[in-house]
Amino acid sequence: MNRKQLIVLGVCVALCLLVGIGLWQTSHDLRYTRINLVTHPKGIMGTTCTIAAIVDSAERDKAEKAMKNAEDIIRYLEFKLSTWLENSEISRLNHSGKSRLSNSTRNVVNMAKEAAVYTHGAFDATCSPLIRLWREAEEENRVPSPRQIAHAREASNWESFTITKTAMQKNHSTASLDLGGIAKGFAIDKALNMLRQEKIHGGLVDIGGDLACYRKENIEGTWAVGIQDPFGKGTIASLGLRNGAVCTSGNYERFFTIQGKRYSHIIDPRTGYPAEITPSVTVIAPLAAHADVWATALSVTGKDGFDFLPKTIHSMVIEGTKEKPSFHQTPGFRDYLVKPLNTK
Ligand code: FAD
Ligand code: MG
Repeated sequence: MNRKQLIVLGVCVALCLLVGIGLWQTSHDLRYTRINLVTHPKGIMGTTCTIAAIVDSAERDKAEKAMKNAEDIIRYLEFKLSTWLENSEISRLNHSGKSRLSNSTRNVVNMAKEAAVYTHGAFDATCSPLIRLWREAEEENRVPSPRQIAHAREASNWESFTITKTAMQKNHSTASLDLGGIAKGFAIDKALNMLRQEKIHGGLVDIGGDLACYRKENIEGTWAVGIQDPFGKGTIASLGLRNGAVCTSGNYERFFTIQGKRYSHIIDPRTGYPAEITPSVTVIAPLAAHADVWATALSVTGKDGFDFLPKTIHSMVIEGTKEKPSFHQTPGFRDYLVKPLNTK
């Protein structure tokens, strides 16, 4: 072959290579078009639930299996941790005075015990006698007496319980435990891990508006999170999140009504009375369990709780009334707002 023929052959081979790569690339892309899968499992912790995944079309089956595993672990944890189910481990402890503890229940109990320390007592899962007292007061439509509150406070502390490696028991007959302020966040974290373990490109788990989400580097954009307006319909802020958790606590959905007056379902364990200082608190944290705890704790302390909020956790506390609201944000919270607060 002369020089000219060699050059022509070289160009043809290069061209074939380029076309080949191009074809492989598009077919590869076609095989890998991105799809969003969403499921809404029913009957989860008495509220709504959404599980979402961002997948390549070729991984649809793997993603659907991961989403089913996520739903299963939420139901498993509800069965262990609920105070709404008679035969959960926590209900058994509360009613019979002792219960064996599975690993997950012990983990949540230990996290709740630690939270009582780092929130300076604002978050305290042993304040269940107080929650029950206010629930009974609502049924009888009368505010509990100071004496009843003092009595309920006596049992509301961690000394009323003994925790061993495999069991937990009450040392005080009227003590009881309520993980309502941390168990949802804990379950969200465990469920999201089911998607991460299967290397799904992006995932989100939402239970009752509390959520955790992630996106791998190859997935641009953020998950959009709206914050409910505590004074009316619609949202008061929108956040954009790639990785992390957002939990909101407020007195606008769940509350006690006694003689026509509304009392928050969140109790200040330090006084025994419902927390009244904030209609809504939103917290952004790496873990949903921590965001859940801090949303309840800051509902008790208001913005003063920012003094002992870890730097990796961001929050917006709304104080005041519809007529005269005040918005207090930690510096890092603003970085997540996709548009300014809608405070008119
Ligand atoms: P949050 O602020 O997240 O938590 C407040 C809850 O924490 C209160 O309801 C109380 O339980 C507790 N609490 C109050 N004050 C304090 C405090 N100072 N420190 C620590 N804890 C405090 N609801 C139903 O209607 N039906 C159900 O079947 C049902 N099952 C559930 C099962 C589980 C496992 C969990 C975790 C909750 C369940 N719920 C159920 C409750 C509901 O889903 C909400 O999770 C619950 O009301 C708390 O969520 P929140 O965001 O409203 O308030
Ligand atoms: Mg919560």
